[in-house]
Amino acid sequence: MNILRPGQDGYTEEVAGFQTAVPSSPAAVVAAESAEDVGAAVRYAATHGLRVAVQATGHGLTDGTDGLLISTRRMAGVEIDAAARTARVEAGVRWGAVLEAAGQHGLAPLSGSSPDVGVVGYTLSGGFGLMARRYGRAADHVRALDVVTADGDLRRVEPGSDLFWALRGGRDSFGVVTAIEFALMPVRDLYGGSLTFDSADVPTVLRAWRTWSAAAPDALTTSLAMIPYPDLPMLPEPLRGRHVAQVRVAYLGEDGDDLVAPLRAAAPALLDTLRPMPFTESGSIAAEPRQPHGYHGTNATVSQLNDAMLDALLEHAGPGAATPPVLIVDRLGGALARPPQTPGIDWDRSAEFVVRALSVIGEDGVAAVRRAHAKLFGALAPWTTGRLLPFVYGEHAPEEVAEGVFPARDLERLARLKTAYDPRDTFRPAPAVATH
Ligand SMILES: Cc1cc2nc3c(=O)[nH]c(=O)nc-3n(C[C@H](O)[C@H](O)[C@H](O)COP(=O)(O)OP(=O)(O)OC[C@H]3O[C@@H](n4cnc5c(N)ncnc54)[C@H](O)[C@@H]3O)c2cc1C
Repeated sequence: MNILRPGQDGYTEEVAGFQTAVPSSPAAVVAAESAEDVGAAVRYAATHGLRVAVQATGHGLTDGTDGLLISTRRMAGVEIDAAARTARVEAGVRWGAVLEAAGQHGLAPLSGSSPDVGVVGYTLSGGFGLMARRYGRAADHVRALDVVTADGDLRRVEPGSDLFWALRGGRDSFGVVTAIEFALMPVRDLYGGSLTFDSADVPTVLRAWRTWSAAAPDALTTSLAMIPYPDLPMLPEPLRGRHVAQVRVAYLGEDGDDLVAPLRAAAPALLDTLRPMPFTESGSIAAEPRQPHGYHGTNATVSQLNDAMLDALLEHAGPGAATPPVLIVDRLGGALARPPQTPGIDWDRSAEFVVRALSVIGEDGVAAVRRAHAKLFGALAPWTTGRLLPFVYGEHAPEEVAEGVFPARDLERLARLKTAYDPRDTFRPAPAVATH
């Protein structure tokens, strides 16, 4: 087991992740290479009275640690069973590696917008991906998990097990997942990309997208982003200094151009990147930043998107807003509204949209961002039905992370399982049971 302490060579690099606004100073970090290393690390933490935290990529951090950090980035094994249409991957694998490996067999995973995000952290958070309306959440298609529990033992858990139920949505309160097995979909290509519209057209496009996406087939997963681009020379000319609306499209059908015709007619596009593409290139649809930075984010699932809500989105996040975040509205429904084959944590399936706000932490600090987000989500409160764990970013207290994420009945079951599997709170209380 390779264990690094503050001041030792490699410690800082091992602790660093994509999110730079969540300071972490663990007493030690274990650069795990295997499930055995993870087991040894958990036993070491128990002996030394340290709480255990896990990091694969640092995309989803919500709090730092002063205990023992297990870094899984070296656990990079990917196995594809093309006949069974499944993948088995180790804890440090990012979606990009699965896209490539599965793509060679004409298969695709239920990955999300960014190929840099970790498979395990994403899936244990629920996993709302580019084919979500067609196939549902990634968590609903997990076949088995290998997990090291608080006693340091490695267990394989499958449907029917309490721990299997809790981990797929409860994320990191119950153990360290060392490998995950999940279904792949028979998808080689998709029609995808985005249409970007100028500031003056944002209100029109927002309304046009709402109408257009209401009639969407399940084969279409789509979101609308409002993005305030700074006036910086490294940005492409059509975007620089503009507050744009960007409609993102991932469609599993042959008639993509016909499908998006009403959107193309809504307003003149500054940029149009829509095209048929191999699924392996699906990371280009949202083309998210790949450089580590500090950001803060939260979200709300909502039952509808009425005119009053659209006005609130424009006021707090549109062109002219005082502290505008990147705002993303995803159309839910389709398979997301139906119960999965393998029961999981019962998140609200009636919600029609999720509204997400994400702000880069600037000179005014995180307090200004929190205030701006509070105003935005306060305006949506009458229609808010819950919150999605994966889209909670940056420093949040454990009870704040969990707020609105779990239904009361599930929280009780999660709390019982926490007591059964981690009676000494080796793994942090967040997010599953912190509000209990
Ligand atoms: C640019 C970007 C794009 C994204 N796009 C999407 C998207 O399209 N759909 C979506 O649903 N989500 C998306 N997310 C959210 C993402 O799924 C979550 O932030 C996820 O938790 C990231 O997991 P990670 O392992 O990469 O990050 P990390 O920060 O390393 O881990 C995040 C959390 O997962 C836990 N975790 C990680 N590995 C393990 C393990 N082996 N065992 C137990 N717990 C573990 C950690 O304890 C931590 O709490 C996106 C995030 C970013 C920053």
